[in-house]
Amino acid sequence: MSVIRIGVNLEGELAKKFLAVKKKLAINSNADVVRWLINWYYEKEGLTIEESRFEYFNLDEDKGIIRVHDKQLRLYADIQIIELKTGEPALYCTVCQSTTCEHIKYAVTTPKVKKLFKQNKWELPEPNEVEKWWGCPDLNRGPESPSLGA
Ligand SMILES: [Zn+2]
Repeated sequence: MSVIRIGVNLEGELAKKFLAVKKKLAINSNADVVRWLINWYYEKEGLTIEESRFEYFNLDEDKGIIRVHDKQLRLYADIQIIELKTGEPALYCTVCQSTTCEHIKYAVTTPKVKKLFKQNKWELPEPNEVEKWWGCPDLNRGPESPSLGA
């Protein structure tokens, strides 16, 4: 569930318009006016909420496993941090047995993974660079998790 906090200052004409809307709606709370307006506009425009396929689930720092929820396949993809032959760290999906699957491409976009790589001064590819970075054929060294660093 996502929570968005909005703090907004309205001045001048916009403030007057807001008060006029609030009066017309006969809603006491400014926040409820905003909620009403969002729902009204959403319905008016016939908008739909696109559920994203992937969702970051958690990071097991002890085991070095990043867990991504795949809502389409209804599974949790465990992603390990492995070391390539070159010594570079890479992400490895244990479900797909791949370093370049969609789970990996999603994982590199998550704030937790970005932070983890940054903390360890590891370079992290963009999703469209994953294959170029980690798609090397001589990767099959088996997952070995380097320490996540202190
Ligand atoms: Zn995968």
